[in-house]
Formats: sequence, C-alpha cells, structure tokens
Amino acid sequence: MTAGPGKAGNGDPGRPAKGDCGKPVNDGLGGSPDSGAGTSLLGGVGAAQRDGAPSVAGPEPFSFELHAAQGAARAGTFQTPHGPVPTPAFMPVGTQGTVKTLTPEEVAEVGARMVLANTYHLFLRPGPDVVRALGGLHAFMRWEGPILTDSGGFQVFSLARIRKIREDGVEFQSHLDGSRHFFTPERVMEIQRALGADVVMAFDECPPGGASRSEVEKANARTLAWLLRCRDRFGELQAEEEGPRQTLFPVLQGNVYEDLRRQQARDVMSVGEWKGLAIGGLSVGEAKEDMWRTLAVLHHELPAGLPRYLMGVGYPADLLRAVALGCDLFDCVAPTRNARHGTAWSRGEGQVNLKHSRFKLDTRPLDETCDCYTCRRFDRAYLRHLVVAGEWLAHRLLTLHNLRFLLALAAEARARILEGSFESWSRDWLLRFEKGREG
Ligand SMILES: [Zn+2]
Repeated sequence: MTAGPGKAGNGDPGRPAKGDCGKPVNDGLGGSPDSGAGTSLLGGVGAAQRDGAPSVAGPEPFSFELHAAQGAARAGTFQTPHGPVPTPAFMPVGTQGTVKTLTPEEVAEVGARMVLANTYHLFLRPGPDVVRALGGLHAFMRWEGPILTDSGGFQVFSLARIRKIREDGVEFQSHLDGSRHFFTPERVMEIQRALGADVVMAFDECPPGGASRSEVEKANARTLAWLLRCRDRFGELQAEEEGPRQTLFPVLQGNVYEDLRRQQARDVMSVGEWKGLAIGGLSVGEAKEDMWRTLAVLHHELPAGLPRYLMGVGYPADLLRAVALGCDLFDCVAPTRNARHGTAWSRGEGQVNLKHSRFKLDTRPLDETCDCYTCRRFDRAYLRHLVVAGEWLAHRLLTLHNLRFLLALAAEARARILEGSFESWSRDWLLRFEKGREG
C-alpha cells in the first residue's frame, strides 16, 4: 500500500473566505523533530496498519482511547478502518484530492497520519461518481491512511454563489462554471459515501464571527434539524452491504455564545451515538480570547471519550493552545498556503517571510531543530532565492517544512502529555515562538 496523501482543501481554494485557520499572523514553530506522532508515522500508513489496526471493518471500526491527560490536554488514539491516528494530530488539507505539491509518500514522510479532502471541490470536479468508479478516494489518491471529508457546506457558503437557502437545503452556483446545484443533508451524505472517506461530516450552517445571537440561534436549530436528516440517511447508506465503513461526525455550532454552545452540545449528544465530534463556528473571525473561552466551555460539556476535531485551526500557536483546551484533531490550509506565499515557521523566530533581504546571505537552515528534508538540505539564502524567483521548488520545499513543523509540534505535544510535562513545555514553547516572530 502506498502511503497516503492528503486531500482537498489544501491550499487556497479549500477554505476561502473564512479565516484561514484563525489567521493568526504569527504562530509558532514548534515541533521537535522527534515528537511521537511524527516519528512513528514516518513509516506511513502502511506501517500504521501493520501495527494492528483492523484494515477492514471489525465490529468496532471506529474507537477512541485516551491514554493520558494533563489539565484539559489529552493524548489518545483514534482507531479507523485505515489505521490508528495518535492524537493530538494535525490533518493536512488536500483540497482537490492532493496536498498541494507533495506526493502521498512525502505527506506520510513528514508525519501525517490522516488527511482531509474537500467535498465541494471533488463534487464539482471530477465528481463523486467518477471517484467511486475509480475505487473511492483512498484508491484514487493512492492514500491508504484515514481520510476525512468535510460536508462541502463551508465552500458552498464561502466560494459558490448562493442562490437560495431553504429549510431543505442550499441551492448554489459553481464558482467554476456557474452550473447550478442543490445540496441537501441527504445529498451530502450520498456524495461523501461515494467519495468513501473514513470520517464524513454533517451538513451544517456556520454563521460568521460577530453573528448576532438570534442568527446563531437560527443556525443552531437548522444545524440540528439537518443533523437528524444526515444521521438517518447516513444510517441507510451504511446498512448497504457494499461500500466503505464510515463514521459521521456532527458539527457543533453556537459561535461564541456560551449558553448556546452548551445547549447545542447537549442536543447533539442526545440524538446519536457518535464516534467523534467536530467543533465548528470558531476561527471564523471572532476574537481569539472568545475562541479560547468557548473551547473551555466545551471541554466541560463534551464527553471525554470522543475525539474532538477543531475545524480550521492549525497555526502553530493556536494549535498548541487548543490542545491545552482539550482538542484532538486539527486541519488548516496555513502550512501549504503560506508555503506558496514564501512564508515559513521557525521555532525561534515565529513566522518568517523569506522574501526579506535579511535572508540573502543567511546560510542557516530554516529551523535548526527541524528534521525535514528542506532543513537538512538547504539554507535560507537558497530558499529565499527560489521564493524571489517564483520557482516551483520553493512551494514544495516550504510545504514540506511547514507541514513537518506542525506535525512534529502535534507529536511533541502528545509525547509531553504522556510524560506529564506538557504545561511547562508548551508555555516555554509559546514564549519562544511568539517572542521571535516577525510580527
Ligand atoms: Zn524543516
């Protein structure tokens, strides 16, 4: 089996308007090269399966085991039909069925275990029926590790031209050719069934940061009503003999209103036996302090035994803070998008823009503690030259580094939680990273 690649959404098109992962402009670097998650993952997905995860549906194809906690931070393992995912974990985004510029083997080599693909983009091109005819996303992309697909809702609301939002679904026009389509909760389940990811997401409505209380109340009600329809259609599809074993994650909305968050969490927990939960509606333009406050509320509200996927968060410092507040899975286009803009993360300097003239004769690696191919092989002066010249190799090399940086950070966080040193380590890490940032 090949190692796997990532998918949808990777870079830009993936999560457009919404905040690009919280858009912190400076986050940290981090990750020590040998953090747990990263290292053992280097063997790729195949290795993961050899570790004993069932490769075909057993009685319990999806489960989550918590190994340790420090404060709210948790270290666990999310089991899927395509192998285990040690958590906390970052999922690289592959918008179009590819983590931009990298092969599946490279995505595995930087430590990724699970990748994300975008339903909206793959629905428009090449189309779910094409992907299904070619064996599903895993076979199509040659990624044998776990895959998560989003519901497409985010892109429909941010990329497409919305024609009409009704109780039964959303009519929209493709941003590619203007063609008209209609997404209902049932249709979104059918599309994600055809794509064949391990984890599929419920169709939800995500109000922007700053939305009024009444807007959020309405969105919560619609999200819950759509969740029931997703749950029922998903159940029917899973009952079919043929096809992949999948699990459906509900998306928790509620913006930054604490009581609405609590109520939504309780409502969602009461209508299904979920194997994991997604926290949506954050990193959409609200103040950072509101995001942290909301995550703290959710930590006390959500059951400890389910993995929590914080959608769209993945700048290094944000990831670390969210881990400290009990989140387990993350995705963000920042590592790949930033790479294409010539920016990279460095543990001691925060986020750096390689176009800066101060790197012209800088013969140090991007990050002296990083074990990625880019840092082992090239200096900043050469990388700067590639960026300034607009060379494709710059995109590849910076993508390799940025992804390794985040994946190693998540892996080290995991190792620190397991050994009980997470709190002091993360405090020092953030201090160093944020002190060094360019601003
Ligand atoms: Zn590196």
